[in-house]
Amino acid sequence: MSEQSQSLFEDAISVLDRAAAYADIDPEAIEKLKHPRAMLTVSIPVRMDDGSLQVFTGYRVQHDGTRGPTKGGIRYHPKADIDEVKALAFWMTCKCAVVGIPYGGAKGGITVNPKELSRMELERLSRGFVQQVADFIGPDTDIPAPDVYTNAMIMGWMMDEYSKIQRHHTPAVITGKPVELGGSLGRDDATGRGAYYCIKELEERKGWNPSETTVAVQGFGNAGQHVAKLLHADGYKIVAISDSHGGIYSPDGFDVPSIIKMKDETREVRAVYCSGALCESVPSTSISNAELLELDVDLLIPAALEKQITADNAPRIQAQHIIEVANGPITSEASRMLSERGILIVPDILANAGGVTVSYFEWVQNKAGYYWDLEEVHERLHKIMRREFDLVYRRMMDKEIDMRTAAYAHALSRIGTAIAAQGTRAYFANGTA
Ligand code: NAD
Repeated sequence: MSEQSQSLFEDAISVLDRAAAYADIDPEAIEKLKHPRAMLTVSIPVRMDDGSLQVFTGYRVQHDGTRGPTKGGIRYHPKADIDEVKALAFWMTCKCAVVGIPYGGAKGGITVNPKELSRMELERLSRGFVQQVADFIGPDTDIPAPDVYTNAMIMGWMMDEYSKIQRHHTPAVITGKPVELGGSLGRDDATGRGAYYCIKELEERKGWNPSETTVAVQGFGNAGQHVAKLLHADGYKIVAISDSHGGIYSPDGFDVPSIIKMKDETREVRAVYCSGALCESVPSTSISNAELLELDVDLLIPAALEKQITADNAPRIQAQHIIEVANGPITSEASRMLSERGILIVPDILANAGGVTVSYFEWVQNKAGYYWDLEEVHERLHKIMRREFDLVYRRMMDKEIDMRTAAYAHALSRIGTAIAAQGTRAYFANGTA
């Protein structure tokens, strides 16, 4: 079976047996993690602007809830399907455990190209989804958030719809909301910032000089833009950027804030020069997304979608460090090939965990009804990312394993302890209480 046709979920859970060898976890717990707790598929009828009715398919998967309510984003994408959502939910279980926040994992998705919908159709679709999953989610059961092609406004609609169904204001049912509707300061750039903190930890250990360190970023959305912006502000040379339309390359590095400004206005990445409020396109080399991945850069940051680096292109990857800001951008086979070549991969379940960490902060603030300032959010996020990066890095060095295996072993030890606290065979088969 080719890697492209292989189940993403099966590929995702293949890490479990390997990582278990380095974790404190009972085999029964590993077996439990190979099966999502619950899966829901819904049909969402939407009245379109032209008067016609269109029915969309949506999914919500709860993977494991041993460590707390399940948590995970909702993706709108034409290729979203149950297999992808299952894999993403599994990664959320592991991600929450890596950073030690008291959640299990979940994920949601709707098979739709949101760029083809009007804003009013998008609102009707988002509210319709919540109507179908309202009994499945809740502030103490399963808490959604944004993911690819969903944003703060959509989270606000969903929270409003859920609150109407419950007949009381329930901001803690969903995170990533607009700040004015109970969102947390610092949630917008949290995923990129978490990845940036991981890169700063590497910088310290490797002794990098930012102005001599080149970076390529694939995907220029919520996650990719912010990590590029923070690295650029520190003097890193962002030499390549791409989005779904294609990429741009300049060996001298781009002025990232100008590109963000232009992308906000034109919806595509272009090399630009901005002066005052005026921006104009400037020459740069156009490259494809495939070419971007194979550039000779120090840091490669895939921040778009899964399965971007496979056994096919892995031999051509030249970057010595890869920060997985997207979920699952490297298949397990490709990951093994890259690690064998000594390429350091900071895995998604650690590198992009800043998003769910600040989502957790948002939920805590909603429950308390007391809101923190930005400085407090950044400080708390930094403390967690720094601590957990260090624990994973040390496990990698001590056990002489790759960083992905170390991150999973770290997560599995936490999940394993929680599952064991409910009793395993060793306890139950041992007779009386
Ligand atoms: P987004 O919708 O804000 O941005 C997605 C970006 O990827 C856009 O720039 C889009 O043009 C680009 N893109 C889409 N298809 C592409 C392709 N084939 N090649 C290159 N670029 C492509 O989404 P996001 O929230 O930034 O999510 C990006 C990745 O980060 C996803 O894997 C997501 O699961 C992961 N992630 C996001 C968050 C979060 O808080 N937003 C948290 C954790 C992980």
